[in-house]
Amino acid sequence: MFSDLVGKRVLVTGSTAGIGLAVAKLFVQYGAKVAINSRSQNEVAETAINELVALGKAEDVFFIPADLTKSAECKKMVESFIDRFGGMDVLINNAGGLGGRSSLELMDDDFYDHVMDLNARSVLMTTKYSIPHLRASAAEFGKTASVISTGSIAGREGGGLGAGVYAASKAWLHNIHRNWVKEYTKDGIRFNIVSPGTVDTLFHADKSDELKDKIAGSIAFGRFAESEELAPSFAFFASHNCSGYITGQILDVNGGQMCP
Ligand code: NAD
Repeated sequence: MFSDLVGKRVLVTGSTAGIGLAVAKLFVQYGAKVAINSRSQNEVAETAINELVALGKAEDVFFIPADLTKSAECKKMVESFIDRFGGMDVLINNAGGLGGRSSLELMDDDFYDHVMDLNARSVLMTTKYSIPHLRASAAEFGKTASVISTGSIAGREGGGLGAGVYAASKAWLHNIHRNWVKEYTKDGIRFNIVSPGTVDTLFHADKSDELKDKIAGSIAFGRFAESEELAPSFAFFASHNCSGYITGQILDVNGGQMCP
């Protein structure tokens, strides 16, 4: 079923580690051309690129440094991608993160702006600049192009203490996808969300082992997910063969971690 991913041009944002890197690896293994991204070129980015090259062909992978909290860098990233691959078939908006914790009474404008820039502006602007290329892909190949964004269980249940703006930014993302479905389905572009529960990545670096055990106890599977367990859902939504009639959906990949 995933054979139509061969040669597809896929941009995965926030992808030198964690879920994004696992997604990029799977797409390379399926024969796609993949660009990964993080804020800056460093050792972590170089290691990620080497791992991808080992799974595929060097000419089919590259790294784009861009801090996606800034609209101008979202634009430059999309331009770099198009310069290299000549078009875009799949956009995966994965960059995001907690951006810190703050209780409501201590919150200031800088905190709010940072969390919303990281999780909302980054997706809005990257998608905006990608739309013409995704539209062109759908028209050229007669198959749907696909935008997939990484949501969160927090977007449904409100998030942990101090993470209210993060949770709200993911709910914003869940919602705006449905608006884009109304505007761009006629152009052959689909929009879906993969919504993780709790995944064992650097995202949880601020938590004690005791707290991690407590969270694991709230998951039916009794453990966090591995990033590799998330990746196939992105491939499913990227593949026209698998999901060409599916749009505007949120797929929870959370091991039975229930929202109240
Ligand atoms: P991670 O910290 O392991 O990876 C985040 C990636 O994004 C890294 O490559 C990092 O360099 C990049 N990044 C961070 N800020 C960036 C910026 N300003 N511009 C460009 N790139 C940037 O985290 P992860 O857990 O793999 O998170 C990936 C996505 O999954 C995020 O959107 C996160 O909100 C979401 N998510 C994670 C969990 C979880 O439990 N880990 C749960 C729900 C949702």
